[in-house]
Order: sequence, then C-alpha cells, then structure tokens
Amino acid sequence: VSERLKNLRTTIQEINRYVPGKSIEEIAREYGHSPAEILKLGSNENQLGPSRFAVEAIRQAAGSVHLYPDVDAAPLKRALSEYTGLPEELIVASGGGMDGVLDTLMRMFVREGKDVILPTPTFSYYEISALANGGRPVFVPRGENFAINTDQIIRAADDASLIFLCSPNNPTGNQVSEKDLRGVLESVNALVFLDEAYVEFADKNFIHLVKEYDNLVVGRTFSKAFGLAGLRLGYAVMSEAIQRAYMKVATPFSISRVAEHAGIAALEDREHLKESIEMVRRGRTQLSKRLNLETYPTQASFILAETYPHLASEITTKLLSKGIIIRDCTSFRDAGKYLVRITVGREEQNERVIELLNNMV
Ligand code: PMP
Repeated sequence: VSERLKNLRTTIQEINRYVPGKSIEEIAREYGHSPAEILKLGSNENQLGPSRFAVEAIRQAAGSVHLYPDVDAAPLKRALSEYTGLPEELIVASGGGMDGVLDTLMRMFVREGKDVILPTPTFSYYEISALANGGRPVFVPRGENFAINTDQIIRAADDASLIFLCSPNNPTGNQVSEKDLRGVLESVNALVFLDEAYVEFADKNFIHLVKEYDNLVVGRTFSKAFGLAGLRLGYAVMSEAIQRAYMKVATPFSISRVAEHAGIAALEDREHLKESIEMVRRGRTQLSKRLNLETYPTQASFILAETYPHLASEITTKLLSKGIIIRDCTSFRDAGKYLVRITVGREEQNERVIELLNNMV
C-alpha cells in the first residue's frame, strides 16, 4: 500500500471480500449461453419476479426522483407497522437492504476488539461487517442438524457485544428453536441480531419477542418473499431505546423514493406474497423428494444438498456449463466442500435442476 494510503485500517486490508452467487451476465459470457436460457438459482431471489403493483409504483415514482425522499420513510414505516403488528416506534427501514441495517447496528454496538459471535456455517456478510467495524468474529460451530450450540454461545458471550442468529439460517435452512433463542436472550448482555430474511417461508417467526427483550433486534428484507432484491430494501424491529439511537446514526435518505413506493405496494399485494410462499413450499417438497442427493429439512426458499463423494465445486461447475447457477457452499466458513444450496423455483425450473443433477450423481 502506498504511503498516502497507510491510514487504511489493517483489519480492512485483511478482509476477504463477500462472495456473491454468480450473475447471469457473468455465466452467459463465460460459457457462451444466451442470458435468457440461464436459470439463476444461486442467490435466493424470488423466481416469480416482483409484484406487478410494485413495478407500477416504481414507474409512477420515477418522475419524482429529482426530489429527496421522506427522511424517515414514514409512509413505509406505517405500512410495515401494519404488516408486522408492531408500533412504528419499534421499526427502522433501510436502503442497502438488511445488509444496511446490520452494518448500522455494528457501528452502534461493536467496540474495537470486542467479540461478535457467529454460529457457523451462516450468512457470510456478518463476518465482513464485524471485521470492518473493528470487531473480532468468534465462530461457534453448529451441532447436529445445524442446531445452534446454545451453551457454547452463552459461554463465549462474556466478552461479546453482538450475537448473530439466522432463522431460517442461510445456507442450512433450519430455524432456531424458541427455547434456544430465549435461552440466549436471557443469559447474555450482548445484543442479539435475529436475521429473519427468509421467515415468510417458515412455520414460525419471533418478531413479537422484541417486546419482551430489549437486547433483541429482528432483521427483515424485501429481497426474498417480496421479490425486490434489486431495489435493496430492508427493515428491522427492536426496542424503542435502540430504535431511537439507530435513528440518530442512520444514513439520511438511505431509502430511495422508488424503493419506498415499491415497498409499500409490495406489502399491499398479499396475493403475490401468498403465491411466492406457495411456490416455495411446493418446490421444497418436489426437490427433497426427487433429488438423488441427501437434502436437509428447510424452512427457507432454498434447499441444502449433500454432494459427497462429488465435490460441490465440481457439481456447480458442471451445472454452469448447462446454464444453471446454484450455490457452491465451500466459501461458507465451516460448511466443508460437499454442500450445495439451491434456490427453490417454479415447478418447471426445479424439474430442470433435478434432471440435470440426478444425471451427474
Ligand atoms: N441475511 C441473509 C440470511 C441473507 O441470505 C441475505 C441475502 N443474501 C441478507 C441477509 C441480505 O438481505 P438484503 O438483500 O436485504 O441485504
């Protein structure tokens, strides 16, 4: 690094960049496929697409983009209050997706050298954001069926400022049990961030627990069930004390006018939400029944499959040559080399993956 850049913090120089799922453009170029033929099941996007009402709201908002949006996204918060059944005072919304929310919380809670507890394997941006904010990630591997190791988490939490629990967990698909969650919340002084990015597809959610525990924040997103990943819209619920502190440091105007209107329209389109959830539930059964691979039970919009004795990287590369993108989980810490994650899609999409994968194993 040049002399003039010597103030770049060493922790940042050492961070490994976030590995995203592959993009359609990238694969089309690399393998000579036409973009329209490519099936993208590596990033857990909604395979039904966005709500048509959200698309219409985007069109309508487009003419006003010379104006700043509402500073606190109040109309969106009102809609979220209705959707979650919680008062607006407990809600924050963020541009930059849920990633934006958790980055802000890191800035608020992580002190230099303080521990951030991560039950692995899990979503990899937590580690990056912890490091970027001067925290020290502490990895607590999950146990049987990827359940979190509550006792170990509590023991490790003495010097921790934050604990990340993801439910349903990415990439494993399982939820945290209420007993484990309450056990952690009651035994630690750290902030617990419960990531419910995929919760609309699951049997249970824990959003109401923010009224009981002032050290709980529940993160949510419009990227999955609502099909708005490209707009980057997230939100979270938390105790009023944290919400007030959050609003002091949140990036002003982080939610664009376009995203705010689309978010409100998506929340109103209950039919699209219901269809998305039903597609995923049917698709999970289809994939788990028909794939000739061992799959794990899932509450999310993806399914985790075991590729042993084939390497996950071999399987995913072969599928790319056929125009299908799924996720090789090798880059997830503590996931090993034999797991792939497949986004659940529409019936005919799932069928294409099943046929090709079953021919490979
Ligand atoms: N949490 C989990 C578990 C995720 O899988 C994702 C999406 N990759 C996110 C958070 C980020 O969501 P957003 O698109 O709202 O930033």
